This record gives sequence, structure tokens and C-alpha cells, in this order.
Amino acid sequence: MKKPRILIVEDESSIAELIAVNLRHNGFEPIWAEDGASAQREIDALMPDMILLDWMLPGESGLQLARQWRKDPRTKTMPILMLTARGDEPDKVAGLDAGADDYITKPFSTQEMLARIRAVLRRRAPEAASERVEIGELALDTATHRVTWQGTPLKVGPTEFKLLGFLMQHAERVHSRAQLLDKVWGDHVYIEERTVDVHVKRLRESLGPAAPMVETVRGAGYRLTAQATV
Ligand code: CA
Repeated sequence: MKKPRILIVEDESSIAELIAVNLRHNGFEPIWAEDGASAQREIDALMPDMILLDWMLPGESGLQLARQWRKDPRTKTMPILMLTARGDEPDKVAGLDAGADDYITKPFSTQEMLARIRAVLRRRAPEAASERVEIGELALDTATHRVTWQGTPLKVGPTEFKLLGFLMQHAERVHSRAQLLDKVWGDHVYIEERTVDVHVKRLRESLGPAAPMVETVRGAGYRLTAQATV
């Protein structure tokens, strides 16, 4: 099962390190950025599942960043949990107004932080918790991270799994390479469209007998179809 990737935006390395260690020990994949610019680079490279955003940062404040990310279509629905050292009400209200899902006041306990993170992730992505898609005899389960063909498990890499999940959830429709990059990779600015072909090739290899279900539509892109002869 994929570990939720959490981007920690915090300039104080000792706090960031402590949060990262606790997240890692509790089944999350932490990434650390010390300011808004490096956080943006991380988001562009690989979409996190959630952002832990410190209020007081050098350069742009957490509040400004939260507003910015809420306006960007790619990060519009990204869960944001604000960290604030100040305890006063107006700040919390401002944070929530800026689009944060919740806030934690420093100092906080690990248990409190984990509880808030889990609650925010649950609220934001209830459907991601368990979703099973079946097209013909091909089945994909996001909860158990398993792909089966005629009931037999197939070995599928993480990117291929995401790609297959998207294609199955939008079966029979043709998707261009740019659309797939946008939907599966989250950002196509830094990735070449050829990357899609590489992963489609790997996906077909993983699918074995079900490979023909992933069709190449010349000049248009790819689609997953139940109509293929397998
Ligand atoms: Ca700070």
C-alpha cells in the first residue's frame, strides 16, 4: 500500500527533522522544504498527498503560500495543515480563511499531529480509502494496492498502478499523453510526454495476457477498453 507523501514546509530544521522522523515511523513518507520556493519545486516534481505548512517562514509566509496553492488548479484540493506558534484566535481564523484544512498550535504532541493528519486525509479523500474498479476480468483495488487478472495477482509498479487506476476509472475514453501526465503525474511541466509511452510499455508488460486492453489510439493517445480481444 502506498504511503501518504507529506510535504513539510518548515524553516526550523530541528522541528522539521522531528516531524519527519515521527511521520516516517508512522507509515508516512515525509519530504522537507525550508521555504515556499523549494516547496513549490517539490510540488512540481511529485505531488504530495498533504502539506504541513508552517506559518512563519522566510520570504512568503505560510498564509500567503496557502492562498497561492488554493488558487492553483493543481493544488486546489491539496490538504493543508497549518502549523502555528501563535495561539491567538484571529491567526487561526486567517489560516482557515486562506484555505488551510486545519491548524496545530506549537508545541504539539506527536499523537495530536498524527490524529490531525489522519483526520484531514480522511476528510479530503474518503473515496481513496477503498476503491475497487473492475473492467472485464481486470480488477484494481486502491486500498490493497492490488491488480488481478481473472483473480490472479499481477505485479505492477507504483507509477503503472496509478496510470492503470486512472485508465480504468475512465475506461473507453481516449486520453492524450498531456492529459495523462496531468492526471496521473499531477504536473506535466517537467516531464516529457515520451515518459507516458515508457510507462504504458511497462504497464503492458505487467498486464501480460490483459495487455491488449491498453490500446494505442494513433495520433490521439491511449485508452483502456473492455472490447479488446484478450
Ligand atoms: Ca518557522
